[in-house]
Amino acid sequence: MAEILDGKQLARTIRTELKEKVAELKSSGITPGLALLLVGDNPASQVYVRSKAKACAEVGIFSIVEKRPAETTQEEVLELIARWNADPRIHGILVQLPLPAHIDEQAVLLAIDPRKDVDGFHPENMGRLVEGLPGFVPCTPAGIIEILRRYNISTVGKHAVVLGRSNIVGKPIANLLYQKSAYANATVTICHTATQDLAQYTRSADILIVAAGRPQLITGDYVREGVVVIDVGINRIEDPSAPKGYRLVGDVDFDSVAPKAAAITPVPGGVGPMTIAMLLTNTLRAATGEAFSVRQFD
Ligand code: NAP
Repeated sequence: MAEILDGKQLARTIRTELKEKVAELKSSGITPGLALLLVGDNPASQVYVRSKAKACAEVGIFSIVEKRPAETTQEEVLELIARWNADPRIHGILVQLPLPAHIDEQAVLLAIDPRKDVDGFHPENMGRLVEGLPGFVPCTPAGIIEILRRYNISTVGKHAVVLGRSNIVGKPIANLLYQKSAYANATVTICHTATQDLAQYTRSADILIVAAGRPQLITGDYVREGVVVIDVGINRIEDPSAPKGYRLVGDVDFDSVAPKAAAITPVPGGVGPMTIAMLLTNTLRAATGEAFSVRQFD
């Protein structure tokens, strides 16, 4: 049976480390600050923003949560971001996505000062990542690299297959994995809906990263013995026997894949908890100024 890559425990360890580093920074007169913007009343977004603010408080990061109604205009959002860009107490700015349809998401992300872009979604940070320059790495891909590093899973010379090409997960993790560096250096294949014979690629993976948003898409037939599997998916499926009538599953069918894998992340408790831990890490890196001078994983 595979080793379980316990993201929940790892995230706890990282938060404990961060708490110490934040205290050290505070003693030198700098309190890291994160501003969070929530527009509208999407219930999942409300939960995410609440848990991000709570995680900040736990490690000693100062946070502001600005909740605006769904009918807030794009101008109002841009005005708020401009204010936070200029506020020296705020080191990181996070706009919870998705935004209501009348607001141009790209225009909003572009308005964030790249040096405060702790989500790493600004094209400048994406460009820095591709070029291997210091900058902000999006939190979920950063969490995946951190899992691999802390479990001593080397990617050097390995074949890493990434299923999914979103800007949030697939593209950045693929770019991180092929960097010529101590933490990466894999040969990377990216698969998506136009990929023909998907199993041919996934079966040749030493490391398989799945971010497709399709519940239990990857079954045991899709992987070879000894693969390392990182399951990014978070999907709700109906389950009348569960107290809430549903349960969370990944994009990987854990029961058929785990017996063949050398290591695997569970859902929940794998990549998910690492995402917030990396948001806190990015906020600290913004406050120390390290984000644009030192590469995150070197
Ligand atoms: P997304 O934007 O919907 O992208 C999904 C990608 O998977 C697309 O590139 C799509 O290909 C590809 N894909 C979908 N079905 C496929 C199939 N049957 N065969 C091959 N490729 C397929 O999703 P995302 O934002 O990257 O998120 C992916 C999953 O991760 C979701 O379940 C999401 O909830 C979860 N997630 C978790 C975290 C976390 O903190 N753990 C963070 C972010 C996302 P095309 O480009 O061709 O459409």
